[in-house]
Amino acid sequence: MTTPDQLPGGDDVSGIAELVRLLTSGADLPGVVVLVDEDLGDTAAALEVDQCGHTPMLLCGSAWVEGSRLAMYGTIAHEVAHHALGHTRASARVLLPRLPCFALVAAAAALLGGHVWVAALILLAAPLARLVCLRRCRRHEREADAHAVTLLNAAGLPGTASLTAVLDGIAAAESRWNRTLGWLAATHPPVWARRRHLNAAVVPALPPGTTAATRPYAREEVHPCSP
Ligand SMILES: [Zn+2]
Repeated sequence: MTTPDQLPGGDDVSGIAELVRLLTSGADLPGVVVLVDEDLGDTAAALEVDQCGHTPMLLCGSAWVEGSRLAMYGTIAHEVAHHALGHTRASARVLLPRLPCFALVAAAAALLGGHVWVAALILLAAPLARLVCLRRCRRHEREADAHAVTLLNAAGLPGTASLTAVLDGIAAAESRWNRTLGWLAATHPPVWARRRHLNAAVVPALPPGTTAATRPYAREEVHPCSP
């Protein structure tokens, strides 16, 4: 285990780059573009940029970088885990933001064709499909939490403590509504559910430097930008 004064990170860019390098080498990823933006506040996200091919990208609010170092490790590892597990290309995440548009276009086409009942069924099925996608997204969040611990441990960093720091930060701002019922219509599980899953997850105790088992990243999908 790396000692605290050897931990990479802090608010210097080279430390963050070293942290991402450690995590992505364990995740068998070709590299991740990291964008730290103060406008994102305390949010973070994993996405793929299609403009230049499928480039794995990680957005991180500066609040995470300027705050607790453990929380920063956990946040970045969680987003790297999304990439490593293929979540950014999963159908639920891709479909979710497009679902209302698809449903409206399909219903309008059915109405124009005189199929009123078909249009009504589409409009009824769309919210159900959204709930299914949201449930899938919440499962991805739990999987990313557990895999982040694996990646951090493999990098010689404190995995469980880092994810706990992340969840402590989220819990401090979580609304009572989200803790009770609101999570049913959210992409993320409530903190209590994430803690429960993390405690129950069997995280391989990999020694530092060991490559964590992940779904191999499709390297042929990576097309760097042309200069
Ligand atoms: Zn996530």
